[in-house]
Amino acid sequence: MKRIVFLLFSFALLFNVTTASAAREGTVFRRVDCEEKLIALTFDDGPHPEKTEKVLEVLDHYDVKATFFVVGQNAERYPEIVQRCAEKGHEIGNHTFTHRYFNRLSALEAENEIKKDSKLLEALTGVPCRLFRPPGGIFDSASASLASKAGMKTVIWNVDTKDWAGESADNIFKNVTKNACNGSIILFHDYTGNKSHTLEALRLVIPYLLNEGYSLVTVSELISRSNAAG
Ligand SMILES: [Zn+2]
Repeated sequence: MKRIVFLLFSFALLFNVTTASAAREGTVFRRVDCEEKLIALTFDDGPHPEKTEKVLEVLDHYDVKATFFVVGQNAERYPEIVQRCAEKGHEIGNHTFTHRYFNRLSALEAENEIKKDSKLLEALTGVPCRLFRPPGGIFDSASASLASKAGMKTVIWNVDTKDWAGESADNIFKNVTKNACNGSIILFHDYTGNKSHTLEALRLVIPYLLNEGYSLVTVSELISRSNAAG
């Protein structure tokens, strides 16, 4: 028992140290400290030829903006979808080129994953990538620092809808209503390997949040309106 407690304590310590040094070397956001009723919806892993278009339709319907963390190899296949997202005023963030977890890559491989994705996305949209989300949300001080050197803030989330796990629309809705607050960053996916209920859930989540008085903005706008930004 003592050993387990010690291991848990060591892990917690390691995690805290990692997070603290990551924050020092490169900014990492799980949510943003803000007084206004603002929330950022984020969509990972696309573009997907059908799902991303449908997500765009729902966002258009409610006239809200979101952030798409795009995987380079998918963007190469469907560049016009990335361009359409950007043209509609959504933000495009870097989610690496091949979506390999950073704890399995060398520093050089991680750097190449970041650089290759930014290069492609910037060529497609004409604007620099300002945000980076590591695959699986796995990062350490070194990757946060790499992103920072490439001019990007590392963005995680404080609300995981678990749409990636095939959760029902009702469960996704509950995840959001239980955890969303001012400055929340909510994780959705516009591309999942299995069947997801993201679209049905969005049709519940967006009107609920709007009704609660929240404005749905891009992550960069959320950060720019944080207390820290003054
Ligand atoms: Zn991902």
